[in-house]
Amino acid sequence: MIPYGRQDITDEDMAAVEAVLRSDFLTQGPAVPAFERALASYCGATHGVAVSNATAALHIACLALGLGPGDRLWTSPNTFVASANCGLYCGAQVDFVDIDPQTYNMSVSTLEAKLLKAAVEGRLPKVVIPVHFAGQSCEMREIHALGQRYGFRIIEDASHAVGGRYLGEPVGNCRYSDITVFSFHPVKIITTAEGGMALTNDPKLAAQMERLRSHGITREPAMMAWESEGPWYYQQIELGFNFRMTDLQAALGHSQLQRLDDYVARRHSIAARYNEALVELPLTVPYQHPDSRSALHLYPIHLNEVAARRRVFECLRAKGVGVNVHYIPVHNQPHYRQLGFAVGDFPEAEHYYAGAISLPMFPTLTPTQQEEVITALKELLA
Ligand SMILES: *Cc1c(COP(=O)(O)O)cnc(C)c1O
Repeated sequence: MIPYGRQDITDEDMAAVEAVLRSDFLTQGPAVPAFERALASYCGATHGVAVSNATAALHIACLALGLGPGDRLWTSPNTFVASANCGLYCGAQVDFVDIDPQTYNMSVSTLEAKLLKAAVEGRLPKVVIPVHFAGQSCEMREIHALGQRYGFRIIEDASHAVGGRYLGEPVGNCRYSDITVFSFHPVKIITTAEGGMALTNDPKLAAQMERLRSHGITREPAMMAWESEGPWYYQQIELGFNFRMTDLQAALGHSQLQRLDDYVARRHSIAARYNEALVELPLTVPYQHPDSRSALHLYPIHLNEVAARRRVFECLRAKGVGVNVHYIPVHNQPHYRQLGFAVGDFPEAEHYYAGAISLPMFPTLTPTQQEEVITALKELLA
């Protein structure tokens, strides 16, 4: 089976991890801050906080922005459940903003209309989480302008988008947001097995996320509720977690980062071949917004005839093509139905989901494998 996504692990990666295994620190050593500095610098942000996964990063990002009971968080329904769950972890109410039918990202005009209405009703969100679906940045300049007008904070869920660019600058520089979150799960662009990072340009937010990642503990006398009792002393000044990344993982991520640009370039050439080969078929290939250079985590096609999706999906799997579907709209998950959401609430996300199939897309996909995928699709749809 050709998978839809796959990690690439080189001898250099293995050597980097082995060096940590032979060193004094498996965790809480120098590899984590080195990876944080390297990725923050690559992205043009001042601070990076590495954590155990992107879900944890979203959680502590929300907490650092003060999200709590009585507050509202809005995100896209076309995402993995983690982009919404972080709001629930904080006791906030979660709501969704429907997607743009072309980019499949949160629609700016729908967001604006919903904000207008929420302002009248006194139900404005405290935090909005745009999700850079498939690796393509949302229209962050416009979303940021709405944030200034309506007073919400912004966390970019860039789990798909490390290595991508927006208006000529790297995703993750936080020019239009408070915090940007990346995931390093093996299907994503670069991997640490499990892992994530929150980037920010705000030293206070960075310090708070660092504390929340490690139990809410500080060793800084200035932060303490009363005077330090000696060099051994630490204080837990708030309730945090153990969301730490290990040095093994950070060494792997740092080594992978050296190949990030190559990976994204390779994804672009795979996408170009798909775009050209699928042009005659009754489907839509992923639209590329001129403001964005996508990291192309996914290559989602949308079938014109959505009723055919299940048959096409099953036939592709039967032919050894490991397709997938991204995403089942979050509001239609049973947990969110229980919170009051219903089918029909976000029709664009539902329509997109109904016809969506993610084709294999990863840097080591060989030309032969890609032709197998293309041939299989042509046999089914031509
Ligand atoms: C993968 C993913 C996450 C969660 O990442 P983990 O590192 O697995 O916790 C969050 N949001 C989106 C959009 C994702 O694709």
